[in-house]
Amino acid sequence: MSLTVPAPGLARDVLAGLDDEQRAVALAVTGPVCVLAGAGTGKTRAITHRIAHGVVSGAYPAGQVLAVTFTARAAGEMRGRLRALGADGVQARTFHAAALRQLSYFWPRAFGGAMPGLVESKARLVAEAASRLRITPDRAAVRDLTSEVEWAKSTLLTPEAYAVGAAQANRGVVAGLELDDVARVYAEYEAARRRAEVLDFEELILLTVAAITEFGDIADELRSRYRHFVVDEYQDVTPLQHALLDAWLGGRDDICVVGDAAQTIYSFTGASPKWLLDFPRRFPHATVVRLVRDYRSTPQIVELANEVLAGAPATSAASAARVQLVGQRPPGPKPQVNGFASEPEEAADVVTRIRGLIAQGTPAREIAVLYRINAQSEVYEAALATAGIPYLIRGGERFFERPEVREAVVLLRGAARAADEGQPAALPAQVREALADRWKEDAPPPVGARAQRERWDSVAALVRLADDHHGDLASFVNDLEERAAAQHAPAVEGVTLASLHAAKGLEWDAVFLAGLVDGTLPLQHAQTAEEIEEERRLLYVGVTRAREHLFLSWAAARNEGGRASRRISRFLERMVPAPARASRPGSGPVGKPLSCRVCGRTLTAAAERRARRCQGCPSTYDEALFARLREWRATRAKELGQPAYCVFTDATLERIAEDQPTSVGALAGISGIGTAKLDKYGAEVLDLVKTHAEAQGRK
Ligand code: ATP
Ligand code: MG
Repeated sequence: MSLTVPAPGLARDVLAGLDDEQRAVALAVTGPVCVLAGAGTGKTRAITHRIAHGVVSGAYPAGQVLAVTFTARAAGEMRGRLRALGADGVQARTFHAAALRQLSYFWPRAFGGAMPGLVESKARLVAEAASRLRITPDRAAVRDLTSEVEWAKSTLLTPEAYAVGAAQANRGVVAGLELDDVARVYAEYEAARRRAEVLDFEELILLTVAAITEFGDIADELRSRYRHFVVDEYQDVTPLQHALLDAWLGGRDDICVVGDAAQTIYSFTGASPKWLLDFPRRFPHATVVRLVRDYRSTPQIVELANEVLAGAPATSAASAARVQLVGQRPPGPKPQVNGFASEPEEAADVVTRIRGLIAQGTPAREIAVLYRINAQSEVYEAALATAGIPYLIRGGERFFERPEVREAVVLLRGAARAADEGQPAALPAQVREALADRWKEDAPPPVGARAQRERWDSVAALVRLADDHHGDLASFVNDLEERAAAQHAPAVEGVTLASLHAAKGLEWDAVFLAGLVDGTLPLQHAQTAEEIEEERRLLYVGVTRAREHLFLSWAAARNEGGRASRRISRFLERMVPAPARASRPGSGPVGKPLSCRVCGRTLTAAAERRARRCQGCPSTYDEALFARLREWRATRAKELGQPAYCVFTDATLERIAEDQPTSVGALAGISGIGTAKLDKYGAEVLDLVKTHAEAQGRK
């Protein structure tokens, strides 16, 4: 251990830039500390400065601190921040990375010989285990079984205890199997893993706990090395991770935890906020700090975040621990809740806005589109690729790289080759038939089959593309392959696409929360009150990722011209004026008064405002012009190798046929026509309108 030299000047610097409560955290360099605070209040910042303060003030050497964060990226960021604050050499790791390091060091002493390697494919071992039991799960069922084994190990359930524990935890049906069968797969997996002499991530932690608790000399050495522990995102720690934390502490109390029970979003992995909420009881002499100032988001966004949580039943644990956030930043634009007739229109609007933000100077890396399930990424990947805006996907695979999507495209290509040119069935039917062995449209996987459902949803997204495609199967497959190629190039820097789960702890200047329909958020699978509350917290996490611009959106139908059967997320219902919730929404917040172009009545419903016509009044658009515009669009889309809606949506064409604009300015006033579309198609459209008017005049 090296002697530490106090550096009062540096210590002062480290405390600068913290508010009083954050400073209280940073000053409590030893002993139990618990920070219970909402999103964006500077929890991560406070603990980083606390560690730095402890180190630069000489309270302890950097090497004695072990900080645990949720992801490797967060750990890397923390190390960088600490270095910048003059506290190099602190161990900031995930639970897994910390355990891996410790176990490899202590293995020879605890267990003898060399440490076994890590399992390369847990899913493969699970599949083998299942087939030995004469169960032949498909790939998605294997994924669900694998998650279930992970859940069991993370909650410290052995195969023998699994069936009872899973029933108590209401785990539901996994891969269509009885709990006893899942337990047998789990036991068989463990046996196979031992035979293969490999460890999985959970085993890594379990054995680290065993090495520490069963070997006094190992415990002594480890505990004299690490004396100060810090845990970020403490609301999402699993029983297994907690056992490791307890083993590290060995009854000591030099631990600082920070978390927000209202951001508990990993319960399905076995995580629980109970330790966070119980901390003050477990350590009655702890310094407990609550932070309420939100430094991340504008007061407008903070207000919406508060409202999201305010809708929670008063009895839930998170709502009991909830603190009202107070926005600290200067005011910004009001978050918008925008409804659209269809998903393609929703995506087109998001992309237009993204382009606008970029044009106004927001870097693409400061923009994110967040969604509930990974299958929702496809429509945004396509729209961004078409617009030439680079994007990256966090915590998931690009749509066309997902195994189930690749497999489906291969099947479709085969079907296209074999297709009888004479008398082909309608494309949507052909696509469904080609995929019939793998994908049953009317049989989505049951509740609890998380991975199976994701896979089903991804294929469903692909099938929906067929519903929108104008052309035969061969041209559809070409279209898919072109999309895949266009979306293939991974960007180093670009707009982030991520699920709400993967967005935890992060922040962006502009955030789009897309696809907020009931059934997707909350997910249809969420049935119990607890599950629904977890979905609400996901929305809260999403809302609180935004610094300045926040757009929430939803679409009444999946496809253009489809049945408007969907409703806005129930979590947003009370925040949106009634007309915008109607099943045929228009876009944009209700603003200046507008009157019906037919009868002159003032319009309030969003859909009516968008069409500038009462729903009851007849459409005044020129049908012949509309037909010509559609023809022109089909030719353009074909030339560009893009789906028609990427050029203009039907709704936009209708407005053009109705307004018959004669100038660029008038054209720009139509919703769905941004600057890029104006540049690309403006002249052609104006020309078309003009020629049409002249022809009418001649008649
Ligand atoms: P989350 O719950 O999402 O993890 P958090 O509580 O960890 O959020 P941080 O990420 O630490 O919050 O901070 C949110 C943002 O506010 C960061 O950009 C951070 O730099 C900034 N911030 C925090 N505290 C202050 C402060 N006292 N003065 C200025 N900016 C601050
Ligand atoms: Mg944080």
